[in-house]
Amino acid sequence: MGFCLFSNVALAADALAREGRRVAIVDVDVHHGNGTQDVFYERDDVLFVSLHQSPFYPGTGHAHEIGRGPGEGYTVNLPVPSGTGHAGWLELVDRVVVPVVEAFSPDVILVSAGFDAHREDPIGGLDLVADTFYEAVAGLREIAATGAVLEGGYSLEALEVCARSVGAALIWEANPVKETITEGVRPWGMLRSEVESYHAGRWPVRLGG
Ligand SMILES: [Zn+2]
Repeated sequence: MGFCLFSNVALAADALAREGRRVAIVDVDVHHGNGTQDVFYERDDVLFVSLHQSPFYPGTGHAHEIGRGPGEGYTVNLPVPSGTGHAGWLELVDRVVVPVVEAFSPDVILVSAGFDAHREDPIGGLDLVADTFYEAVAGLREIAATGAVLEGGYSLEALEVCARSVGAALIWEANPVKETITEGVRPWGMLRSEVESYHAGRWPVRLGG
């Protein structure tokens, strides 16, 4: 929609897929990854998972958008409300993102690493901290070779600390950034039934507990 000159993560994923690799894209930007979703919406060789604020620009990324044709089930959208914090966001990573990506059995994981979900971001309304992104990448790197592509982020300070944290996670180092974690909204209760109806038949999502 004009914010990116090239869809870098989609180009990388497509190039890897053409070599026969299975690629999972995990989009942590505060906005829905609508362009990436469109590129792979009818394909089953690239899994696309997006966590994003909703309602929010660009208005797409509802849980019922799950892919089409051979791509059905290979798009997973997790829309979360403004005010979702570290714990509530990571709960979705643990319950849905990690088990789905693991079951997809990718050769490569690419993180669309937008950092406008950080609490200092002037546009995003999620209250994440650098450690939230660190923990997410630390969970993904256990599954397969993981890389990240820098995307959105409108606070240069937040962009810096989050990029340092994710960089450390990618090379299996401790998180160099310490920020105070505050309690936020826990969206799992709202999302549970949609995740169950759209994804539990195909993926081993963790509904209980
Ligand atoms: Zn964004």
